[in-house]
Amino acid sequence: MCGVVGIVRKDGNVAPDLYVGVIKLQHRAHDMAGIATSDGEMTYLSRGMGEVAVAFSKSKLGRMKGRAGIGHVRWTTVGDVNIQNAHPIAGLFRTRQNPKGKRFYIGHNGQIAQDELKVMFPRYKPDVTTDTKFIAALISSSGKETFEDALQYACSILKGAYSLVILYDDAVYGVRDTSGNRPLVLGANGGALMVASEAVAFNPLGGHYVDEVHPGEMVKISRESSLGFQRISIKSVPDEMPRQLTFCLFEMIYLLHPASIFLGRTVQMVRERMGVQLFKEHPLDADVVIGVPDSGLAAARGYARASGIPKESGIIRSHYSGRVFINAVAERDEKHRIKHDVIRQVIEGKRVVVLDDSIVEGRTSIKIVKLLRENGAREVYLLSSSPPPMTPCYYGVPTALSQRRLIAADHKGNVEAIRKEIGADYLGYLSIQGTIRAVVDTASCIAGYPEISEKDFCTACFSGNYLIPH
Ligand code: SF4
Ligand code: MG
Repeated sequence: MCGVVGIVRKDGNVAPDLYVGVIKLQHRAHDMAGIATSDGEMTYLSRGMGEVAVAFSKSKLGRMKGRAGIGHVRWTTVGDVNIQNAHPIAGLFRTRQNPKGKRFYIGHNGQIAQDELKVMFPRYKPDVTTDTKFIAALISSSGKETFEDALQYACSILKGAYSLVILYDDAVYGVRDTSGNRPLVLGANGGALMVASEAVAFNPLGGHYVDEVHPGEMVKISRESSLGFQRISIKSVPDEMPRQLTFCLFEMIYLLHPASIFLGRTVQMVRERMGVQLFKEHPLDADVVIGVPDSGLAAARGYARASGIPKESGIIRSHYSGRVFINAVAERDEKHRIKHDVIRQVIEGKRVVVLDDSIVEGRTSIKIVKLLRENGAREVYLLSSSPPPMTPCYYGVPTALSQRRLIAADHKGNVEAIRKEIGADYLGYLSIQGTIRAVVDTASCIAGYPEISEKDFCTACFSGNYLIPH
């Protein structure tokens, strides 16, 4: 999974803004990071391994000129974890008038359908090369005379899930496929227009949410006359691509930052609502409700509110362990060991309801239940504010890779068998319909945001219902 950001300023250099923007998207990925800028003539690129703070040197950023640019944080789902696969990925756009060509850069969140790649690019090796190079190759080889026509051509061929930021000339494009599976939003402050995976990236730049890039839309941000958004519909996509919003339900459950706004709703409010819905589906009698920090806390608040059971801070999270889920497998064991501490006084002798956002591999849950028992909990009731992930995601979220286990799939969805392995006295999951209901029922914070429906979501990793080609 990845995070993308693109910014065009009225004046001044954009690189420092992009640096702040990618830091704000660090919760989405931290394998590698990159920034590209353009002053209309020259382009500048800086990419590095690891978290944003170590991937860039301040001196290199200082040499990056231009008012327009894009940034990217990468969590590898396709291709090796190496610097060649770090985004932005470069391409060359040639026309009859400019046969030498002009460089462009792409940052991609999502995943392109692998079958298509193998047919069109027989030498493509999914283990080695990022699928984004395929998008760059399509644009480069389009034979079109304008960059917009080349983008339209690429969209007419691409299958899969993609939200893109693209830098060409001194313009930035935000492109979102017709399924709208991956998030992409527009923002602004007094001196710049922006596009990003999440609105939270605009906050430190004094920016505010403007709108989503709609599914099937490309938005050009340029200074052609005055700084503005130019909204262009994608003219044609392959027949297999959905024409209906198929937004990733797991973004709402876990991936998005709680302060981000998506589908017209503040993510934190959606997660609290998931806790309310959990109480409807699993009304337990207990002494205390606690959440697994950070992503289980909002649902715990919702559950406590609905049930009347007091909510306490029973588990404290180390701020030096990061998000375990997006770490390489080898690092996860160590991070698991240092991540959580339990406050004994809060739970000793009590029947404890403990909420987490999801149970993917089950390792966190096993560890938490053990810790709670060691600290004197009388009974431990574990609730997940999402359904059990049963199958892999092919749209850019590694819920299950070859190295990653899915505990629910291993037990064929048998909740009693999963409960036994985790060691809890009770285990309950929010249903798929209940999870979606929680999103739909959350009050909108954007005036005039259109109604959303239960059909607007991808639930493939929970339901096995893959609506987007992969
Ligand atoms: Fe999201 Fe799951 Fe769909 Fe992947 S399969 S896009 S993680 S809901
Ligand atoms: Mg968690």
